[in-house]
Amino acid sequence: MPATKQKPAKSAPSRPNRTEDKLARLGLRSDMDLVLHLPMRYEDETEVVPIRAAGFMTGHPAQVEGVVTACEVQFRPRRQLVVTMEDASGQLVMRFLNFYGSQTKQFTVGNRVRARGEVRHGFFGDEMVHPAYKIIVEGAPLPTVLTPVYPAGEGLSQAALRKAIAEAMTRVDWTDTLSPPLLARFDLMPFEPAVRLLHNPPPEIDENALEDRSHPAWLRMKFDELVAQQLSLKRAQVARRARGAAPLPVIGALSNAFMKTLPFSLTVAQQRVLDEIRADLRAAYPMQRLLQGDVGSGKTVVAALAAAQAIDSGYQAVLMAPTEILADQHFRKIAAWMEPLGISVAWLTGSLRKKDKTEAQARIESGQAQLVIGTHAVIQDAVQFAQLGLVIVDEQHRFGVGQRLALRNKGLADSTALEGSASVPHQLMMSATPIPRTLAMTYYADLEVSVIDELPPGRTPVVTRIIDQNRREEVIERVHAAALEGRQVYWVCPLIEESETLQLQTATDTHATLAAALPDLQVGLVHGRLKPAEKQDIMDAFTRGEIHVLVATTVIEVGVDVPNASLMVIEHAERFGLSQLHQLRGRVGRGSAASVCLLLYQSPLGPVARQRLMTMRETTDGFEIARRDLEIRGPGEFLGARQSGQAMLRFADLETDQWLVEKARNAAETLLRDDPATVEAHLARWLGMREDYLRV
Ligand code: ADP
Ligand code: MG
Repeated sequence: MPATKQKPAKSAPSRPNRTEDKLARLGLRSDMDLVLHLPMRYEDETEVVPIRAAGFMTGHPAQVEGVVTACEVQFRPRRQLVVTMEDASGQLVMRFLNFYGSQTKQFTVGNRVRARGEVRHGFFGDEMVHPAYKIIVEGAPLPTVLTPVYPAGEGLSQAALRKAIAEAMTRVDWTDTLSPPLLARFDLMPFEPAVRLLHNPPPEIDENALEDRSHPAWLRMKFDELVAQQLSLKRAQVARRARGAAPLPVIGALSNAFMKTLPFSLTVAQQRVLDEIRADLRAAYPMQRLLQGDVGSGKTVVAALAAAQAIDSGYQAVLMAPTEILADQHFRKIAAWMEPLGISVAWLTGSLRKKDKTEAQARIESGQAQLVIGTHAVIQDAVQFAQLGLVIVDEQHRFGVGQRLALRNKGLADSTALEGSASVPHQLMMSATPIPRTLAMTYYADLEVSVIDELPPGRTPVVTRIIDQNRREEVIERVHAAALEGRQVYWVCPLIEESETLQLQTATDTHATLAAALPDLQVGLVHGRLKPAEKQDIMDAFTRGEIHVLVATTVIEVGVDVPNASLMVIEHAERFGLSQLHQLRGRVGRGSAASVCLLLYQSPLGPVARQRLMTMRETTDGFEIARRDLEIRGPGEFLGARQSGQAMLRFADLETDQWLVEKARNAAETLLRDDPATVEAHLARWLGMREDYLRV
């Protein structure tokens, strides 16, 4: 918990609308939180122009001052408050379509008003609609600084926020957490003047630099924020190294036998990442490694070999997948590899019958089950491991932030489920979604990363075509021809985000249409509403080649591996995101047959959708696709990172501020080495309670 200087809102239930509660809802609890709640823009109220001059400034906000000469409530064309004011140069009408009764009193004839808004030329002369205004006394001084406009929550006025922030600024501890030499080294503004300037910029400031956040004061804020992030990541890394893990040094009978039974030899890239993982597993502190490899690059076998090392060393391993279909596939494949070698593999998902679940749990608890495969049910609290040495998470980006956090916490903090022994297990995360360098440096800085950067030999790249939906007949013809040649086909139904029912309906309709159009073929249907066992039956039939065309919703998106499938049709491809399309397409091109992916779209295509489909046509390289995806969507959306690390990065922008990330990293290293006390102060100032979300 960060040190909060304000008292907690004790009487909250009885007075739910207190400013303090509203501030808390914005995450503003301590004085420092308030001080670091920086304006999103400014209004220039430092000048008053004559009413006549404001009339020439249409399209720009202007501030005028005058005396009320009339005030009436009109009822046509609709109820509104109409106030006339004048100064020596002319007169102006202010119109309020929504107003309170009390406002008619404020606008008593003779009162002096300062109003700010855009003037437009109305039927009855110049007017401002809903100007910001203040009743003032003659000669009231004008502000000498720009007026900040803060991000505000419901029911919280700018005035209340400004007041709270101004008060917090008088109480807060302004000590700079970066020493003068550091400031000089990175050419940074000191903390206090930077913050004060951002809250109250002088009117002569370069407003563009404030606007695009390139002003030195903004740079200082971004820098501090990034330093905090780096410190937190480094600290997590140190903490992780300090935790003990059981070394898993044995590459023994199982590993060797398993390697021999593989029908292929590992690619150079697979061998390299395996060596990296093997070295980590020997260490007495927990591995945190991310295994990246494009779809189809062969991550599963590397994971299985890592598990074999854990088992050879006398420990249990667990492999967790985000969907039942994928978990099931892993289970079958790996069990088929390992059970003949005398290894006991347990299967555990949420949908197991109670009896089977209890039985699986008993085998896990007794240590009889050496390898456990399943969905996130395997990390639930009821599961106790006898001797857990290694946790493998497949398609880790598909797990929700909450699950990732739970897993990390289970792995790193004290836990019952994943802590079979006194130490914590090693962790291997796998993902086909490559993480751009900037993101890797910020969000994943405490992960080691291994990359499989080649595909197994003999693959022919998938050819992608973009086809207008109204040429469906031709596409169905193609499907028919392909099936007659002995190839299998996925037909992916459109994503309908608004309604699962509608999506299901579409899938059922498509299935019926295709079954009718292709009477000589077996057309199957798999979707999310089926029971796991039903899904498995269909996937099995498809794997055995008994189904020619598999109509599917996005349940097949991740990991599914049926090498004989070599044609994929994606309907309404314009509705899918790039990484989703890439994952889907990755279901074909797994065997030696040349594969084709047909992206059907509904015209007209919007510019973003067009860009996506073009990208899909131009490249099959997952890294390139991720790079373009980042360009199109921005880093916040990427990997759903917005919810996790992004929640902390309020000011820095990972795209434009990459150069700052590198400097912040250097500064963080210096601080950790020379000035541990300051590290704490800096983290408390910038992260407070947010820190936990950073390491997901
Ligand atoms: P992904 O990295 O997408 O999880 P998989 O592990 O599912 O990929 O592997 C894709 C396919 O490639 C599987 O059928 C797998 O058996 C096969 N495979 C993996 N490694 C090799 C290899 N070195 N040589 C030939 N085939 C391989
Ligand atoms: Mg996979």
